[in-house]
Amino acid sequence: MTPRGWAVLSLVALTVALVVTAALLIPWHRPPAPRADQLAALGDLPAEQVARSREFRSALRPAGWAAIAIGLLVALLLGLTPLGSRLVELAGRPFGGHWAAQAVLGGLAVVLVADLVTLPFAAWRQAVLTRYGLSTNGWSGWTVDLLKSYAVSAVIGAVALLGFYTVIRLSPRWWWAFGAAGAATLVVLLSFVLPVLVEPVFNRFTPMEQGPLRAQLMQMAARDGVPVRDVLVADASRRTRAVNAYVSGLGPTRRVVVYDTLLREATPAEVTAVVAHELGHAKDRDVAVGTLTGALGAAAAVVALYLLGSSGPLLRLAGVDSVAQPRAFPLLVALVTVAGLVSAPAQALMSRRVEARADAHALALTGDPAAFEAMQRRLAGINLADPDPPRWEYLYSATHPSTVERMAAARAHARETGR
Ligand SMILES: [Zn+2]
Repeated sequence: MTPRGWAVLSLVALTVALVVTAALLIPWHRPPAPRADQLAALGDLPAEQVARSREFRSALRPAGWAAIAIGLLVALLLGLTPLGSRLVELAGRPFGGHWAAQAVLGGLAVVLVADLVTLPFAAWRQAVLTRYGLSTNGWSGWTVDLLKSYAVSAVIGAVALLGFYTVIRLSPRWWWAFGAAGAATLVVLLSFVLPVLVEPVFNRFTPMEQGPLRAQLMQMAARDGVPVRDVLVADASRRTRAVNAYVSGLGPTRRVVVYDTLLREATPAEVTAVVAHELGHAKDRDVAVGTLTGALGAAAAVVALYLLGSSGPLLRLAGVDSVAQPRAFPLLVALVTVAGLVSAPAQALMSRRVEARADAHALALTGDPAAFEAMQRRLAGINLADPDPPRWEYLYSATHPSTVERMAAARAHARETGR
């Protein structure tokens, strides 16, 4: 069998593995909370708060969709015309067109152009966030964060690009197989390494002060069978008013991280509800499942890119002879961008199902649906979430159940358990 034949076979096997993993490990059969409860919850929210969050979401929407549209347009322009390959050549020229310079500098140049064209929309978004009082870091803090995230992406990108094109040179016929394995490994590595290495670039963490709340959280984690080593507080208030918490690390390094904003804004019972939700993610190994599906998806994507990239018409549009050249990188970016936009609703759906399971875990663990509902109301108020967003937007991009769905789930739980 030819390398191409093996690639087709591998793609089929990876797709089957991905579908089976998602089918078995994502909690699909979780009926949404009754719509009547949702509407009742919506009616109980202050009308003024609902109106203000809808106004805020409407103000954000044009920047969000424009960024997606312009990002797609530029990716297609660079990938499906010879413009992108010329940009890669240009970036490699000071180094005599050496393949490594084209691969790393050319690749980063393509990504940078895509980032720069959407930069005005990111600034627009930041202006809206500031106007509504959600962002607290000011333009200088925003710029510093932006530069930091560019630096982190540039380092990771340079390593990935150099690795990818080195493999192609070493194994011109089988690079897609090594590339698929490498992409899957990178996903696994990033999901474990990023929290440890990258979080401290953006936030400072201090242990939560000794007291009843800390003791209660540690004790709840132990009772849940998800012991944690520590409860840390992140200084998120430096840049945002938004509240959040998460569990990171595995086994003996597992820790609960709580935003300082959450401690400031919420009651201890509500903080407990949020941490119980996060413990649900840890207990159901949601990060591990996400990493596994991500790794399978990345491997399948590399093989699919190899197969699609050997299509004559696409190569002709991009003005390159082979997908294996660094000059064909813009074509790969265009294909990945389209795939990302097409698969977004499926990813959002899986995320919502997993989040609903963590909510159910929190309700069962705390046995306190009233605090859970109060927390959802507070979250929506602080984050200015539309409690019942437009259906199409919800289906395309919502990673969490809506506020009214989460409140309704708490009410249904209260009814079932008689609390
Ligand atoms: Zn969650």
